[in-house]
Amino acid sequence: MPQYKVAIVGAGPAGYFAAMALQNLQTEELKFSIDMIERLPTPWGLVRSGVAPDHPKIKTVSKVFEKVANEPNFRLFANVELGSDLAIVQLKEKYDAVVIATGMALGKKLGIPGEDLLGSMSAATFVPWYNSHPDFKDENIDLSCDTAVVIGAGNVAMDVARILALEPSELDPTDTADHAIDAFKKSSVRAVVVSARRGPEHAAFTSPELRDLPKLEHTNVVINQADIEAAIARAGDTPEKDVKSNLDAMLLISEKEATHHERTMKFQFLATPTEIKGNGRVEEVVFQKTGSDETFSIKCGLVITAIGYEAASLEGIPYEKGKVVNSDGRVSESLYVVGWAKRGPSGVIGTNKSDAAEVMKLLVEDLGTPKNLGDITDVITHNRVVTQMHWQAINMAEVAAGEPLGKPRRKAVDREELLKLGRL
Ligand code: NAP
Repeated sequence: MPQYKVAIVGAGPAGYFAAMALQNLQTEELKFSIDMIERLPTPWGLVRSGVAPDHPKIKTVSKVFEKVANEPNFRLFANVELGSDLAIVQLKEKYDAVVIATGMALGKKLGIPGEDLLGSMSAATFVPWYNSHPDFKDENIDLSCDTAVVIGAGNVAMDVARILALEPSELDPTDTADHAIDAFKKSSVRAVVVSARRGPEHAAFTSPELRDLPKLEHTNVVINQADIEAAIARAGDTPEKDVKSNLDAMLLISEKEATHHERTMKFQFLATPTEIKGNGRVEEVVFQKTGSDETFSIKCGLVITAIGYEAASLEGIPYEKGKVVNSDGRVSESLYVVGWAKRGPSGVIGTNKSDAAEVMKLLVEDLGTPKNLGDITDVITHNRVVTQMHWQAINMAEVAAGEPLGKPRRKAVDREELLKLGRL
């Protein structure tokens, strides 16, 4: 019976859904052994370091990942980095197929003057910082200003703005990084402006996220009713379902009686950023009112851009416009790509399930005879590989540390600490 070896690089949602698809495609005649490689000491990708900590339900998908990981044909090789610990050519030599599932970790740039001033950063830095990503634990996020501007109108902008605008004790029962909770409790930020370059009818937020906003107990959420009414008029009689649902949710918020909390989250539509100004650090963002010559500015000390992501390139893999060059997930002979690295930074976590399943079908179609030329264990030279057993030790230790604090887990934030929890 042919037994094929597949290496999946990246232990995020796309990687796990690819593994799951391969497990589901097995038959009496077709078997896979799956090795998943991850550069961090922990798996789960964006479910661990991206999903907002005040949205714990979204993270329950990790149960699916663990089910996949506990199948006998699956092995985890975390704390192993493609590039420094092994090369893609080595994987291609040993495995019948290699699947790239490395996502997108770099924030897109606005390309406007002042973007690199102190106090201006991408959500690609801010989000992993509050989510305990080891590479971002030492970021110096200065929250000593009164006003923060978030640029972008997608769900990442929404997460960032909500985390900045909520009363920080609301984060106590979450798995937010301790260092971030401390910083939020000392934060002077009281006004958060979410700026969208187009109108409400074009916002990329999804309505469940909008409908969550009125549940914030200590934050005024402000949307100008006239903006939404104008957008409803522009959207016409038969707007798409998602647009209608978004506009309905925004109208509800705009109609809500004003509250007088100390903290405010405000939406500014039709605002195209043209410059970030400041003497050494951010002092204001200049906007053009989209579709007109009018300009205006917002004084602020913090700017976070949430305008999309692109992939950091890996040697031996072709990239174009921040994505892996591919045709329906095929990259080159025996090399495949799934998830954001394949299709760009779009969709919710579940989108990766059908996406990966389609690509794994192609992978199976392309299979020749099994290679039987060894595996990753012939190549890795260091002895600090986090296997599923080590990860389970880390996972259990984090959950146990969170329990007395009423948190789902207390994440370790330092690589060495994580490895120690894994008994490595
Ligand atoms: P996104 O949904 O693509 O939104 C990006 C936003 O940035 C858009 O509003 C876009 O406006 C704006 N933008 C792009 N370039 C800009 C520029 N130069 N100047 C000003 N604005 C600019 O991306 P995302 O928020 O990063 O989210 C990525 C994916 O993850 C999405 O599919 C999202 O739904 C998903 N996600 C889901 C959740 C959840 O389910 N709770 C949470 C987080 C993320 P234009 O439309 O005008 O281009």
